[in-house]
Amino acid sequence: MTSPRYRGRFAPSPTGPLHFGSLVAALASYLEARQHQGQWFIRIEDLDPLREPPEATGQILHSLEAHGLMPDEAVRFQSRRHDAYQAAIERLFASGDAYRCFCSRQELKRHGGRHPNHCRAGGVNPGDRPFAIRFALKDEESHWQDQLLGAQVQNVVAELDDPVILRKEGFYAYQLAVVVDDIDQGITDVVRGSDLLDMTAQQQQIYRALGAGPPNWLHIPVIRNEQGQKLSKQTHAPALDDDRPGPNLVQALNALGQQPPGTLATETVDAILEWGVRHWRRDAIHLTAR
Ligand code: GLU
Repeated sequence: MTSPRYRGRFAPSPTGPLHFGSLVAALASYLEARQHQGQWFIRIEDLDPLREPPEATGQILHSLEAHGLMPDEAVRFQSRRHDAYQAAIERLFASGDAYRCFCSRQELKRHGGRHPNHCRAGGVNPGDRPFAIRFALKDEESHWQDQLLGAQVQNVVAELDDPVILRKEGFYAYQLAVVVDDIDQGITDVVRGSDLLDMTAQQQQIYRALGAGPPNWLHIPVIRNEQGQKLSKQTHAPALDDDRPGPNLVQALNALGQQPPGTLATETVDAILEWGVRHWRRDAIHLTAR
């Protein structure tokens, strides 16, 4: 039996333009895929119109193109995949892996954001209160192997940690959509920021409930600003300057511990990416900055 060919992806949520931290994640997933002679895709995770300025998707795609990061297939948009998420929710309901949650914001807040112990048993009289749908986790001490960080142990607590998969406002949630699409696109390897590390054991349970095997995961350190905050829209990370793709890519290679030669920044983006693929060493990534 041949092993499935490597299929990787970069899956940004379009909450703002691409910043340096997201370029690093995109580049790491691209270089891993290319070094494995694999394919690489872009998926826009546009599930929450309230948090997504309409221009962000175009800005992100423009930036990726300016930096030479071209996908092997047409870009996928989660906003066009609602039927698939609905079908997955119906399947999870049918197998007893999903349930309605009527908890109010205040109730969740009183429990420190974790899910109080009652909706699964159906003990609440909902009346016509709006509800979310949650995935029913199983208690588990999950042991798995990260391709960079090594052996991981994560404790999953049923009900208290149950992730929302359809929000009260009617939006499909990240935890469900990311798994449904990674399965549907045949993604074999996920490379992403370690801010998502804690979600991984829960996602493994969603894979299992949907009858699929999980991919390999590789979590890279998140990029921080001088104040030690993760670069993000919330911490006002500046947009990448698309007119300086060479220096940006070289800086991103440095952030990934790859030690490119100083002269590389003046080369074309294609030459820089080629250097990156040829010299890519995942074990050179600094592990300190999780
Ligand atoms: N859309 C998620 C984000 O931008 C990343 C999804 C993933 O890589 O699993 O944070």
